[in-house]
Amino acid sequence: MTHSTITLNNGVELPSLGLGVLLSEGDEASTAVTTALRAGYRLVDTAAAYGNERLVGRGIREAEVDRAEVFVTTKLWMTDYGFDSALRGFDTSATKLGVDYVDLYLLHWPWPADFSRTIAAYRAAERLLEEGRVRAIGVANFLPEHLRALARETDVVPAVNQVELHPNFQQADQVAVHQELGIATQAWSPIGGVYGWAGGNGSVPPLQNETIGSIASSHGKTPAQVILRWHLDQGRSVVPKSVKPERIASNIDVFDFELTSDEARAIAALDTGQRGAVDPAIVTPEVIDLTIDPA
Ligand code: NDP
Repeated sequence: MTHSTITLNNGVELPSLGLGVLLSEGDEASTAVTTALRAGYRLVDTAAAYGNERLVGRGIREAEVDRAEVFVTTKLWMTDYGFDSALRGFDTSATKLGVDYVDLYLLHWPWPADFSRTIAAYRAAERLLEEGRVRAIGVANFLPEHLRALARETDVVPAVNQVELHPNFQQADQVAVHQELGIATQAWSPIGGVYGWAGGNGSVPPLQNETIGSIASSHGKTPAQVILRWHLDQGRSVVPKSVKPERIASNIDVFDFELTSDEARAIAALDTGQRGAVDPAIVTPEVIDLTIDPA
């Protein structure tokens, strides 16, 4: 077996393990996608903000896997929040990807200081869902209060909330709210890649953690494989990023071993409660300053 799926709240099947492409650029980005699909991945996670949707689309086409078998996620950036601008943002993403439909469309961050614009963008996502241009809609980085505020003003419960989640930042309370609301949790930076691009926060990155290293040795697996197995055991979807063919292959080779309950407890004990990236409560387009190429 090379994959398993999670049934979303609208019945759509989300592959539990996919390829992340944040900071994947140029030919390396499209080759990573092709390599991953040929290695058995069926989910690719990109975003307008990653600037690589065209490359991801090329990688999908070059893999020559039936489009219906590939689950494509992309995300709307905050500068396109608002109803009409969100619809335009979606069209731009779909055009760059070269797809007729997107499997999962996410609002990339809440914009708490202008939540009405966030709501309007989500309303646009609901429209896209109604029109069949996306198979599922959701959010990323929404705190519980954002999920509840969204629920008060919109009709469709997000299928997914994609959040920072790795052994150092396990977010049990956040995950419990997802379970209560029927939202699937998808982990970003599942193996702790955030420490590479956001700078350290003083904690030891999970891949360098001794406890994880010793669990890995005892199974003849890598630390990344142990962490990914740990996520899957908790029913989460994960999108580890790599552009290296050997890592792409090994990161999905996690379906042939099991962690013991003592090992799971040892990993649970690594939680520091500290994020590696920015707190969603304070995010605005100025805090994460990015320009989306309009064409
Ligand atoms: P990951 O936890 O996936 O780690 C990626 C890093 O680890 C890269 O530097 C990669 O390098 C390296 N790596 C990958 N596999 C291994 C391995 N087996 N052993 C050692 N090192 C390895 O971090 P990301 O931050 O990239 O998160 C994953 C994905 O989540 C993103 O790519 C993106 O799709 C999504 N994301 C979403 C966010 C959101 O706001 N919704 C925010 C951040 C990420 P190399 O490529 O050289 O192998």
